[in-house]
Amino acid sequence: SEGVVVGAGLTKHFGTTKALDEVSISVRPGEVVALMGPSGSGKSTLLHVLAGIIPPDAGSVHVRGRRIDDMSERRRSSARLRELGFVFQFGDLVPELSLAENVALPLLLTGSSRRAAMAQATELLAELEIAGVASRRPAEVSGGQAQRAAVARALVHQPAAIFADEPTGALDSVNGDIVLTALLDAARGRGIGLLLVTHDARVAAHADRECILRDGKLAG
Ligand code: ADP
Ligand code: ADP
Repeated sequence: SEGVVVGAGLTKHFGTTKALDEVSISVRPGEVVALMGPSGSGKSTLLHVLAGIIPPDAGSVHVRGRRIDDMSERRRSSARLRELGFVFQFGDLVPELSLAENVALPLLLTGSSRRAAMAQATELLAELEIAGVASRRPAEVSGGQAQRAAVARALVHQPAAIFADEPTGALDSVNGDIVLTALLDAARGRGIGLLLVTHDARVAAHADRECILRDGKLAG
């Protein structure tokens, strides 16, 4: 398949709750897929299964053609670090580190030198127009600036795909638009697949495709 992330027949139970019921989903390079659905419909579970954070009970996950769901925990973590980027709703930058150090982190964790990692982080912060606050800590910048740094961190190691869970949910509409535009441009411009979990129909309208989960099943 040509998907950078391909989940096939994914089923996941928590006790008697069937959180995912034979879900198949594929995200192509540079494609933006909006994942919608009511609370409790399985969005977080699907994200976690596709990211190799929790194993499915049945089905498979391939990232760039490599099956990850049956790897050992250690190899799965390593594949996740190298191949995937994450942007959450808010507040997942490391508070003790500067924005530049936060962005450099995925490179440092996969063996880059500090000098090379910081150089790439600085370049990306400039592209996202927050170079001026690169040396500040997350608490010392605006919410929109912090979330743009989170986008930069998700991009810095050139992942196959980015999983974004309500990335604009905590921002006002002006900052939300800036962060959403940065994510969309980055995905489409760099050929990164973007799976965007959102409750906001205006955000979903920017996607190439919408997937809707209901009771653990994909509709439409
Ligand atoms: P969403 O992200 O769409 O709100 P979730 O994936 O968080 O949905 O949850 C789907 C269903 O699985 C819900 O019924 C939820 O309570 C249940 N669930 C999710 N994670 C767990 C867990 N770790 N333990 C038990 N039940 C869970
Ligand atoms: P969201 O609002 O993004 O759907 P949730 O608040 O539903 O997220 O879930 C946040 C985390 O809690 C997820 O990792 C999910 O797997 C876990 N979770 C959800 N429901 C339950 C549950 N009933 N028991 C244990 N963990 C749960």
